Formats: sequence, structure tokens, C-alpha cells
Amino acid sequence: MNNIINIANARIQKGIVTENLDLIGSKLKTEIQKKFARSLFLREVDTGSCGACESEIISAINPVYDLQRFGVDFVASPRHADALLVTGPVSLNMSLALKRTYEAMPSPKFVITAGDCALDGGPFKGSYYIEGGVSKIIPVVFHIPGCPPKPIDLVLALLLAVKNLKRS
Ligand code: SF4
Repeated sequence: MNNIINIANARIQKGIVTENLDLIGSKLKTEIQKKFARSLFLREVDTGSCGACESEIISAINPVYDLQRFGVDFVASPRHADALLVTGPVSLNMSLALKRTYEAMPSPKFVITAGDCALDGGPFKGSYYIEGGVSKIIPVVFHIPGCPPKPIDLVLALLLAVKNLKRS
């Protein structure tokens, strides 16, 4: 599974996150403009997280990080989303909702997962009530490691994901 998902880990360890937020953010804004000619709209789905990944994602849109200034925004409807941002190990009762959310999105679309739970179940691995990773349900192109990942990791991951995105 890990072979088909781009994982930010190696790139983070090479020190890209030491660049400051404004620099990474301005690169992200440029890439979004190149690929979308408008803002990038994300739909976030929590498939059963402990809530900490959501706290970090919410922090990314607070006045300190201000993710919106880089051309990224969150939408309530999957029909308005370019990408899906998913957290959690996918509890059995969220599996169908996740699949339907993905199916409701217009193409082209892509999926990013955030947090170790979303990759393979993380600390909930082996539980009787989880699917054990988002990629078992829908295709994932990029994973942000961490428990939880920091807001700067989200900004960097969006940059790498959009930069590598091939839109037909
Ligand atoms: S990856 Fe860690 S912080 Fe995120 S939902 Fe799972 S246990 Fe919570």
C-alpha cells in the first residue's frame, strides 16, 4: 500500500519544513494558480479520529497560519471540492460515508490523508471496528504522516501534492 501513496515523510526529513511558512505558502499559491486558475477547495472527512488531527487542521486556518491566504479553502459539500482531506482509521460505520463522499466529488479529484490512523489504522491498528486505512476504501495520492501532523506539514503536503498533480 505504501508503495502507491506518496508519503511526505522523506521530504520532511530532508528539511524542507525548515523553510518558513510564507515561502512554502507562496509556492503553494503559485502552484494552485498554475493548476486551477483559482483557489483549491478541500472537503475534510473525519472517519473516526481521536480529534487531534482535526485540531491541527483547524489550526491551519487560524490567524497564525491563515491557510486561506495561500489559495486554499474548505467547503461543506463534496460537490464543490477539488480534493478530499481524510483523517482517522475509517471506522466501519464511516466506510460507506467516505466512499459516497468521494463518489459525489466532480472529476478530476484527488485524496490526501492526514495522520497515522488514516494510513494504516495507526494506534487503532488491529481493532475489530476499523477498516485500517483510507486507501482500502478510496484511492489516495498523498499521505501526511504524524500523530497528529502539524499545520506546517499540511501546507507542505498540499504544495507537494498540487505540484505533482497531473490534470487531464
Ligand atoms: S493519527 Fe494520532 S492524532 Fe490523528 S486521529 Fe490518529 S491517533 Fe489521533
